[in-house]
Formats: sequence, structure tokens, C-alpha cells
Amino acid sequence: MLRAPLLAAARSRRMRSLVETVPATRSVVRRFVAGSDTADAVRVVRELTEDGLRITLDHLGEDTTDAAQATTTVRAYEEMLAALAADGLAQGADVSVKLSAVGQFLPVDGEKIALENARRICEAAAAVGATVTLDMEDHTTTDSTLGILRELRVDFPWVGAVLQAYLRRTEQDCRELSGEGSRVRLCKGAYAEPETVAFQDKAEVDRSYVRCLKVLMAGKGYPMVASHDPRMIAIAEKLAMEAGRAPSDHEFQMLYGIRPEEQRRIAADGETMRVYVPYGDEWYGYFMRRLAERPANLTFFLRGLATR
Ligand code: FAD
Repeated sequence: MLRAPLLAAARSRRMRSLVETVPATRSVVRRFVAGSDTADAVRVVRELTEDGLRITLDHLGEDTTDAAQATTTVRAYEEMLAALAADGLAQGADVSVKLSAVGQFLPVDGEKIALENARRICEAAAAVGATVTLDMEDHTTTDSTLGILRELRVDFPWVGAVLQAYLRRTEQDCRELSGEGSRVRLCKGAYAEPETVAFQDKAEVDRSYVRCLKVLMAGKGYPMVASHDPRMIAIAEKLAMEAGRAPSDHEFQMLYGIRPEEQRRIAADGETMRVYVPYGDEWYGYFMRRLAERPANLTFFLRGLATR
């Protein structure tokens, strides 16, 4: 019931300035966000790596309408990848990139600039043995993001993409992206989407997730199962086994701060578990989407504010 208003608030400038100015918000946000700068990100990556987990780092930011800001974001990724390499943490690491943070929405040549900026991040990742995954944003960006993915994969065939099971088109997208070398992160989807393009009912989204999993697990690519849902994880494990996939042929992914004990349990069981670690000052949209996913998080947030 609260999902729609919280997702609307995630895109509201007024709500953003309200939430950001509450002094106690930051310490609550810390549950989901590693910190504000590269040093925070590297520290958390080291801790997770020591616990047997892999990582994908997201330098927070989205919906940029300023070319200089997009360039700053690219530099932040370059700096972070160099810092990971300096600490011996880059090999096998991944970075997650929102194309809207690197220029996709710029009024002139947005897609072209986003492609060039994403290319620079891919070059920096390749230089240190890391990979790149393109996050997926709302449905108006899906075709553009998959188009940019195709262009990037010509030079960097290991670039991955995210597909969202709540979109009606996704089963077909899974088929198209289930070939050799393709890396697909399957998630349920985190944005407010209209009925015309997306399943609205949770059970329908779950059924779509399972159909998509079947396609990806039976395919020749590398499926990345991004969910905290114990049912989806159990089904993915079974499908992977039936398809004869070893732990090196697929992986599980969860968000930093969500079900951390389960993340460690799955890794200890011998599976590959990658944690999505966001950091940076632009945490508002990301944080609001996490609140929208789970009313208990909202209670936690409000309780945190009330006790300060
Ligand atoms: P749900 O049905 O939402 O939840 C199942 C159970 O998981 C819940 O009962 C609860 O126990 C736990 N849980 C779920 N969410 C939370 C939470 N916020 N706090 C605490 N517990 C929780 N979405 C996009 O649209 N684009 C992306 O690019 C994208 N990238 C992602 C990358 C990763 C690695 C992950 C894990 C998710 C990503 N998402 C992305 C978010 C995703 O779409 C879902 O919104 C989110 O993962 C919640 O769905 P779920 O599969 O965990 O299942």
C-alpha cells in the first residue's frame, strides 16, 4: 500500500530536501549505504571479501541532467577502480552503473554521451580485471540501455545487464540475452511502472521471475540471481542443478545491508554470492526504493528518527 507513494517520493525534489535535512537520517541510511567516499567503499569491500563474498560497487547517482556531473561520476568510478586495484581487491570485482548517472538523460546527445562515458568505465574496469554491469532503471530506458549494452559488448563482451521480471517484455529479453558470454542479472524490479508494461501483482511478478530464471539457466550465458526472496533462491538453486551448472557458472546477488547472514550462509555453502555495495552522497533515490520494498524498513527508519 505504501509502495506507490514512497516510489513517487523517491522522485520528488521537495521530499528529497525534507528527508535529507533531517539530521538523524544519515545514520539510518548507513544500514544500506557503505559510506560517502572511495575509502568507505574500499573498507566495506575488504570486509565483505574477507567473509568470502564478491562485490559489485555502485557509485550512487541517477537522472543527471548536467554533463559535468556525468563526467564527475565517470571519474569517481575510475578513482574507485584504481583504489580497489591498489589494495589487491579489483580482480573479479564488478561495478554497477546507472546510465542515467553518466548522461543518458542529457537533452542533447544523451545516449551518445552515456555510451562514451560507460565505455571509459569499461576501459578502467578492464585494466584492473574487473567487470561492469549496467543497472536497469524505469521502463522508458529499457530499449536505450539494451542498445548501449549491445554497443559496449562489441569491445567488452563481458559487460552485463539487469532485466526486471515485473516487465511483461522481460521473458523475451531473457531469451535474446541467454547466449554465450552474456551476463544477466535478474531482479524483480524496483520502480513504479504502469499496468500496460508491468505485472502489478506480487504473485504474477514471482511467476515471471521463475519463467525468466528457467530461460537463463537453460541458456548458455551467466545468470546472476538478484533476490532476497528465499523461494526464488531455492528455485534458482534447483534449476541450476538441473541444468548442470557449477557455482562458477552462475551467481547469487543481494543488496548491502539486506539479509547479511543469509549472504554469508549461501557463500559458506559453496555458492558464489555477490553483494551490491552502494556508496556516495546521492543516496536519496536508492534509499527510498529500499523503503518502498519493505514496510518494516520504513518503521525502522521512523523509529531511528524518533529515538534521536
Ligand atoms: P521481495 O519479494 O521484494 O522480497 C523478498 C524478501 O526479501 C522479503 O520478504 C524480505 O525478507 C527480503 N527483502 C526484500 N527487500 C528488502 C528490503 N529492502 N529490506 C529488507 N528486506 C528485504 N532493481 C531494478 O529495478 N534495477 C536494478 O538494476 C536492480 N539491481 C539490483 C541489484 C541487486 C544485486 C539486487 C539484489 C536487487 C536489485 N534491484 C534492482 C532491486 C530489485 O528489483 C528488487 O526491488 C529488490 O531486490 C527486492 O526484491 P526481492 O527479489 O528481494 O523480493
